[in-house]
This record gives sequence, structure tokens and C-alpha cells, in this order.
Amino acid sequence: MHTSIQNINMISNDDALYQRALLLLQTLEDAGFEAWIVGGFVRNMIMGETPHDIDIACSAPWQTTRLLCQSAGFETRETGVLHGTLTVLVDGCPFEVTTYRCDGAYKDARHPEQVEFVSSIEQDLARRDFTMNALAYHPDRGVLDLFGGVADIESGVIRAVGDPQTRFGEDALRIVRGCRFASELGFEIEEATYKGMLANKGLLSHIAIERVKVELDRLLLGKSAGETILKYVDILSAVLPELVAMRSFDQKTPYHCYDVLEHTTRAIDNVKPDLLIRWTTLCHDMGKPAAFFTDDDGVGHFYGHGAMSVFIARGILERLKASPAFVDEVCLLVKRHDDVIEPTPRAVKRMLTKLHGDPALFRALCEVKRGDTSAQAQPYRAPRRETVDALEQTLDSILAKDEAFSLSKLALNGNDVVALGVTQGPDVGQALQAALNAVIDETVPNEPEALHSFIHAWWNEQNSAE
Ligand code: ATP
Ligand code: MG
Repeated sequence: MHTSIQNINMISNDDALYQRALLLLQTLEDAGFEAWIVGGFVRNMIMGETPHDIDIACSAPWQTTRLLCQSAGFETRETGVLHGTLTVLVDGCPFEVTTYRCDGAYKDARHPEQVEFVSSIEQDLARRDFTMNALAYHPDRGVLDLFGGVADIESGVIRAVGDPQTRFGEDALRIVRGCRFASELGFEIEEATYKGMLANKGLLSHIAIERVKVELDRLLLGKSAGETILKYVDILSAVLPELVAMRSFDQKTPYHCYDVLEHTTRAIDNVKPDLLIRWTTLCHDMGKPAAFFTDDDGVGHFYGHGAMSVFIARGILERLKASPAFVDEVCLLVKRHDDVIEPTPRAVKRMLTKLHGDPALFRALCEVKRGDTSAQAQPYRAPRRETVDALEQTLDSILAKDEAFSLSKLALNGNDVVALGVTQGPDVGQALQAALNAVIDETVPNEPEALHSFIHAWWNEQNSAE
């Protein structure tokens, strides 16, 4: 079934990437082989979105593709030749060209025992994960749609190609990929596909955690991330079991109108698509079920939940092998998410000192707070949001005036402190910190002379205290 679709013209003929792909198709087809554009490009084209990369499937063995491309003057790289994939650079733009293949038997829910090269595009499309991804496009032949992928894209449905139970049993990563696509595209997972995911989610423990993390990161950055997590929590619990305690957890407080999971997922959809901010928002209240108690009036409290959320966030991110620096930043923001900060220069600078003096972290904290506020009970949203906006304005004014909020901005350094007689070692750091606090509190101006007098007095006091 070769279906032509009319909206093919959506690709602008001036699109440089597309023009290069056509050149590559032509080169392969002029030599007597068949080649199609496949994968995400076709899906995006039907959705009217701009392409970011183009994958090609071709009947030629990769060695032949390499020869043909080299003769045409295109550079090649053997990026995945075991699976028949060669990267070809056309005018510096990389294209992945993969020989038609189907996957052999799977032995452990992740690696096909061998890749089998096949002769037809139809067989190649049948091994792909979802109908929306099992489409091929050729400028002359149109869209090849064997599984109803175009209709599924048009109605926003994610459907497995073939029997879902078999397909997820073969490769469990597809389960998380399906959720990732639901988040990125705002699509629904079709019912039999959903059931296939549920029945096979236990197999996700066989998948390399790094690959799961790639999908979770992309899921979190998607336009429907929160909605997807809420809707598909029973699937995602296989890789994020921490979500289970949040589901339906009634907060029993006037500040909240949603359970912990719904609060969290609504907050996610109200913050910028940035990994640090989204991971922090996902984790910020995870400690609530553990911190929860009710008072004599039946009102829920969560004192110290930030610190408990830090435990859980660290556990998740370390398990997913996130970088130590990223884990630390998420944990720092989770810990601080509920701190009350007055929108005064002094309070903002004090918080900055707790955030490594990094204004970007402070802005991230503000965004987390905005998301948090947006998913609280209605009466608290507007006033709390105004406070957060005021915090960021205060930061802007501190930065504009170049006021000191970190040791590097202090008009005196460690050498000066030693020259003033403070003993080398930990005393130097303490002296600088005391000076910074005094500057932030506006009891001492950030000027060398005033700071020298301050250090003298501080050092004398230290010595007399001993
Ligand atoms: P994007 O590039 O936006 O992530 P994509 O659909 O191109 O979307 P890729 O991960 O680049 O996704 O994969 C390219 C194509 O390869 C997919 O469209 C799909 O047809 C196929 N594919 C990728 N991973 C799998 C898998 N685990 N099982 C089956 N088919 C897959
Ligand atoms: Mg792709």
C-alpha cells in the first residue's frame, strides 16, 4: 500500500536538510537501490513540524552504501555497522543510513540475538515500535503506511506495531519510549498497547539504566510531561517506584487541593522545560508521605519534608547514574524549595550564599516555587506567585547594582585577611564568611578600609573568646 498524502508540500523545498537528504536518496537510487526517509522525520512532517534530523532506510548493504557515498564525495562514519547503520555527511549534515533489517530472536528483552538484513522496506517497517514510527516517505512514491500510522498521528494515538505483548516482551525499552512520545507529542496510548506495557513492565529491570534515563529526561522535557506521568503512573512505577506513594496521597491541608502526585504533575506542566527545574519539581514533595502526620484537628502537616525529599531524589538520580553535579544541584533545590524568602535584598543575598552564590540556581529555585504555587489551593496561588516574582526582581536589582552576595564579590580576599594577621587555615574562610555576612546585613560597606577594620575587630574577638 503506497499512499500519497497531499500535505507533503509542508516541507519547504528550501529546507537545506531536506534538500541534502534528497541528494543522498538520489545517489543511492541512481545505483539501483531503493531508499526511503523513515522514522521521526516522517512523523514530524505529517504533524507539520520542522525536521531536526533525517534517518534513511536503504536496500543496499552498508558496505555498498559506503562505497557509493564515498564516490559521490560524502564523508562516512561507521557508527553502527553491526546493526547496518552508517552515518553519511552531506555538506556537513549527518544522516543515518540503515540497511533494511528485521530483528532476530530476542533473548533478554533488550538485545536481539542477531540482526537480520532483509530485502524489503515492508519487513523493515514491521520491526519498528509504534505505527507513527513505522512510516516511510519518498518524494516520488509518497508515504508508505502499512499499519495505519498516519491515521494514528492524526488522532494522536500511540499504538504498537503488531501484537503489543510480543513487541514489549522483545524490547522493554519501548515501554518507556511510548511514555516519552506521549509526553513529547501530547498523544494517548491506545488501550491494547497500554495493557501490553503494563504486562511487560517488569522486564524494564533488564534494560540498561542509562537508556532508561535518556527516555525519562526526554519525557520530563515534553510538553505534556506532568499529564503523562499522572496518566501512566502504573507503567512508570516500574522505573520510578517512588511515584506510588505519591498517588492518591490526600494532603489534608487547606493549602492543597490535589493529592501529592497530581500536585506534582500539575507543577511540572507549569514550569519551564529545563532538566534541573523539571527533575527538582518531580522530586520536591516526594518526602511528603513519609513526613506526614495529622494534628488533633485532623489537619495534615509535613514538617521537614524537604529533607526527606532530598533522600529520595538522591536515591533516584544516583540509581539513574545522573552526574554527581546534577544530583547535588537537584538536591540543593529540593531542600530549599519550601524555604520562606522575603523579597528583600538581605534575604535574597542570604539565600544566594546557600546556593553557591549562583544567580542561575536562584532563578531555578524561583521557577520551582512558581510551579509549586501554581498547583496549590486557589486562594494561595496569586499572592505566593507575586512573592516569587518580587524575589526575582530583587535579584535583578542586586545584579544590576553589582552588590556583593558571594566571597568572590567581596572587596577583600584571603591574602588580605592573612596580611591582617589572621592565621592561615580554616580561620581565613571563617573571617571571609563573617565579612560577607556583615556586608549582606549592611552593617559594613563593601569597601577595603571598612572591611579591614571589621576583620581586625573580628580577629580580636576570636582571640579574646578563646
Ligand atoms: P526522535 O528522533 O524524535 O527521538 P524517532 O522516531 O526518530 O524520534 P529514534 O529513537 O531516533 O526516534 O528512532 C528512529 C526510529 O527507529 C523510530 O522512529 C523507530 O521506527 C525505530 N526505533 C527506535 N528504537 C526502537 C525500538 N526500541 N524498537 C523498535 N523500533 C525502534
Ligand atoms: Mg530520530
